[in-house]
Amino acid sequence: MPATTTRRPAIRSLDGWAIATLRETGAIVECEPHGWMREYGDPHARIRALRIGRDDPPPGSSASDAVAAIEKVLAGIGDTCPDCTRESLDGDTRDSNK
Ligand SMILES: [Zn+2]
Repeated sequence: MPATTTRRPAIRSLDGWAIATLRETGAIVECEPHGWMREYGDPHARIRALRIGRDDPPPGSSASDAVAAIEKVLAGIGDTCPDCTRESLDGDTRDSNK
């Protein structure tokens, strides 16, 4: 094995691609006041994102890598913003609209 350069591993940009794709399809949204990503809870948007991964993976990545990256991002994102949850625990006891 030749000595590796200090180049960033491709997986990092694949994660970024997965997040961008999930935002594009509306599967995840950003909490505007806090900036956290949260899952939007739209199964169709998830399916669209996974289909993009399968049919149109980013350059240099296989379809299975792209789908795995999307699934990994989804697994790491909750359906609530942690700061919103904390605020509702501190202040108003419950957000009855959700
Ligand atoms: Zn929030």
